[in-house]
Amino acid sequence: MTHVLTLNAGSSSLKYGLYEAAQDPRVVTHGRVGRIGGAAQLVPDGADTRPLPQVTDHAGALRAVLDHLRASHPQAQISAVGHRVVHGGMDHAAPVLLDVALVEDLDRLSPFAPLHQPHNLAGVRAAMEAFPKARQVACFDTAFHRGHPFVNDTFALPRAYYDKGVRRYGFHGLSYDYIAGELARSAPDLSRVVVAHLGNGASMCALRDGRSVASTMGFSALDGLPMGTRVGQLDPGVVLYLMAQEGMSADQISDLLYKDAGLKGMSGISNDMRELLASDDPRAGEALDYYTFRIRRELGALAAVLGGIDGLVFCGGIGENAAPIRARVCDGMEWIGITLDAARNAANAPVISNDNGAVRVMVIPTDEEIVIARAAVALGG
Ligand code: ADP
Repeated sequence: MTHVLTLNAGSSSLKYGLYEAAQDPRVVTHGRVGRIGGAAQLVPDGADTRPLPQVTDHAGALRAVLDHLRASHPQAQISAVGHRVVHGGMDHAAPVLLDVALVEDLDRLSPFAPLHQPHNLAGVRAAMEAFPKARQVACFDTAFHRGHPFVNDTFALPRAYYDKGVRRYGFHGLSYDYIAGELARSAPDLSRVVVAHLGNGASMCALRDGRSVASTMGFSALDGLPMGTRVGQLDPGVVLYLMAQEGMSADQISDLLYKDAGLKGMSGISNDMRELLASDDPRAGEALDYYTFRIRRELGALAAVLGGIDGLVFCGGIGENAAPIRARVCDGMEWIGITLDAARNAANAPVISNDNGAVRVMVIPTDEEIVIARAAVALGG
């Protein structure tokens, strides 16, 4: 039995998973290296955190992961490495086998996702060096959304920008792909479904018969819902104001919108939902009011896109665990057919709507890594 390694490189983290390379891959172990660029540490699932003082970049983080896996799973034979790559641009609607030329090509998309794409590709290059004989497979966060109709793919800019790739790509595609697969298995009777992926990053997606037709995220992973530290929907006039009147540079504005906004920026306390729910600071309350207001607003908008909804799915760390947030999102939504069962909701049950509601409301734990592992196996021919 050979194995698949999955890698998900963020700006300061590298998540990994080791799977048996079966048609339905079985997870062997998971973990992550955190705080790359600072006090890096290895956090293997179910084992002690270990400081990594010598690790300063993603290549070093990968070496540390491999050292750890060699020691903890000496029998593992890695035949494929599956990578989460945030941007696949206009061309990629499915996972692909990577070679050096394709990595160069994907690097041309780095200006579209400067905070993610370079790190993802650094992970790919490091893995190519570490496993020169293994298959390298890229799974794109944008791919699941490439079938959007033109009206959900464009901005009202001169056509030349659309042709250059200034489009609404949508992200979190691996999560939505997983959820669509689970729905096909457990709820095949539902056609029009809105999925709310609520983690540190957050977005919503309208699925018709398992295919994405609209997403709240657009050109970048900034648009749509407010997130842990990202702003969500923002009038572009605010960006012009920050540049012209406050004299902020592109880098300063980027830091503000990606790292210092959202729940953290509004509350002034934290980006962590657990802390905000526990706080009695009025600014935490306002941040949560805005957060749930925007989710409800997008729910209405996506329901309009679908012509009504049959199902609503919550996933991501907040969607899967924060019953009070789900309750607030669904409160007063009877008009659209949503009524929650309070006890089911408090228990994070798989179905949390009551039996009389027209809309089935579900909690489905998402699993982006297994989507990568399956693709890495499938592309083995
Ligand atoms: P990422 O996007 O980094 O993968 P996650 O999907 O793990 O993030 O989501 C992280 C968020 O989930 C945090 O805001 C965290 O507070 C929230 N969360 C995790 N567990 C709970 C819980 N039991 N109750 C409320 N929020 C939770």
